[in-house]
Amino acid sequence: MQIPGLCYISIGLDDFDALKYGCTTHLATYILNELPKKLRNTVLLFDYPNLVRLNPSIPWKTRGNGAIAIRLGIPCEYASDLSVLMQIIEELVEDYISRFLSKFDVRVPDFEPGLVIARHPLSNDLASLYEKALTDVVVLDHSFISKLMRKGFMVSQRYGRRGIIGASAAIMWLYKGRDYTFELLTYRSKKMYGKSRCIDEESVKVFDNLTRGESFNNYDYKENRILITPHGLDPILYGVRGETPDAVKKALSIIKVCEPLVAWTVFRSNQATDDHAIYRVAKELNPFKTCRISGVVAEKPAIVRGGTVIVKMFDATGEVLLAFFKPSQLFNIASVLDIGDYIEVQGQVKLWNNLQVVHVEKIAILNTSITYKCRPPKCPRCGKRMEKKGLGKGYKCEKCGIIIFNPELECKKIIRGIAVKLSLPPPHSQKHLMKPIDRYGKERNGYSYELLPVTITTKIIEPLEFL
Ligand code: ATP
Repeated sequence: MQIPGLCYISIGLDDFDALKYGCTTHLATYILNELPKKLRNTVLLFDYPNLVRLNPSIPWKTRGNGAIAIRLGIPCEYASDLSVLMQIIEELVEDYISRFLSKFDVRVPDFEPGLVIARHPLSNDLASLYEKALTDVVVLDHSFISKLMRKGFMVSQRYGRRGIIGASAAIMWLYKGRDYTFELLTYRSKKMYGKSRCIDEESVKVFDNLTRGESFNNYDYKENRILITPHGLDPILYGVRGETPDAVKKALSIIKVCEPLVAWTVFRSNQATDDHAIYRVAKELNPFKTCRISGVVAEKPAIVRGGTVIVKMFDATGEVLLAFFKPSQLFNIASVLDIGDYIEVQGQVKLWNNLQVVHVEKIAILNTSITYKCRPPKCPRCGKRMEKKGLGKGYKCEKCGIIIFNPELECKKIIRGIAVKLSLPPPHSQKHLMKPIDRYGKERNGYSYELLPVTITTKIIEPLEFL
C-alpha cells in the first residue's frame, strides 16, 4: 500500500468534550470533512477513523474515556514538516471551538484537550503505550512528552494538555494485531441539543433483526428499551455497533428518526473486545488498574449495605476482595459462591470504603467445590441415631451407651444451584469495552491497511446544522 507522493500520518485527539455539548468524535467528524479541502483534496484515509476506548476506571474521564486516531495518506510536502499540518488542524479546531462556545456560552472548567500528529512508521518503542493507557494510569510529565517528541510525534502547543495521553495512546492502538469492531455514530442538529432524542423504536428492532450476528446491543428485549442512544447533552443522535462497516451503515436506511440527522461517521473501534481485561495476579493489583484474574473463593460471600456482595478470593500470590455491585446484576451469582469454588473475574481495581476491591464486570465459574451434608451413624445395637461427642471423643448412643470412633457417616452431596459458566451483566449495563456474549467466537487479531476515500466513512449532510 504505497502510493507515490503520499506519506502516512496519524492524528490523535482527546478531551475536546469538556464543552458539555461536545464530543471528541464530533470534532473528528468535522476535521475529517474539512481537512481534505485544506490539502487540495488529495487526502486518503488508510483506515476508518479509530474510536479507541481507554481505561474505564480513570476518575477524570467525562463518559466512556474515548480518544480518536485519524489515519491519513497526505501529500508528502505536508508530512515532511508536520508544523504546517499542525497549524492547519489547529485552525480547524479553533474554528470548531469558537463556533461551539459562541453558540452555547458553556463554561469549560476541565477542558484538557490534546492534539498530536505522528509520522508513520510508528516507533516500536511506544508499542506499549496503548495497553498502558487502556489498563493502567499514565502520568503526564515532562519525560512522557519528550519521549513522544523523540519518537516522531508532534504535540500541539495550543492543545497540549492531558488529552495528549489519550490522543497518543489512540494512535498506538492496533500497532500489534488486536480484535476490533465498528460503530456508526450519527449526529443531531445543534438546534436539538438538550432535547430528548426522537427515534422510532420499532425501526431499531427491525435493524436489530436484519443485522443479527453482524451488529450487537441495539435493543434490550427483556427491558423493552433502545440501547443505541446516549442520554446526555452531547451531539450524538444514536450509535450502532457491529462487525463490519457495511453492517453498521445499514442503520442509515433502516432506523427511522424523527429529528434531523445532520452527519454520520463510521469508526473502527476497540469497543466490545474485552481488550482491557488483561491477565494479572493478586499481587499486581493497584487502584485504577483493569484486570482479569482467577482464584479460589476463600470465605462465604458477605452481603453488605445496598446489596453489594463482597467475596474474598486468593491466588498463589495473595488475597483479593471482589465487589459485585447491584447494577451489574451479578450479585445473584456472587451470593451463592462457596469456599473452594474456582472462578475467573474481570473488572477494575477501585478503592471502596477504604478497601481495595476489584469491581467485577464479568464472572466465569470454572469449577464448583463439592460440599456434603453428613449425619451421625445409627447405633448398631438399637438403631437410634448416635450423637457426636466432640473432637476425638467419637459418637455415642444415648440409649445403649455404645461409643464408636471413626464411624462411616451418612453423607449426601449438596446440590449447589450454581453452574460452571460465564455470566455478564444485562446489555444495558455493559460498558463500552465489554465483549457481549454475541461476539464470543468472532474475535479478529488485526487487519491490513487499505486506502479509502474519506467519503465512505463520514458525511456532513447539513453543514449549517452540524456546527
Ligand atoms: P467522551 O467519551 O465524551 O470522549 P471521555 O470519557 O473520553 O469523554 P475525556 O474528557 O476525554 O473523557 O477525559 C479523559 C481524559 O483522561 C483525557 O484527558 C485522557 O487523555 C485521559 N486519560 C485517558 N486514559 C488515561 C490513562 N490511562 N491514564 C491517565 N490519563 C488518561
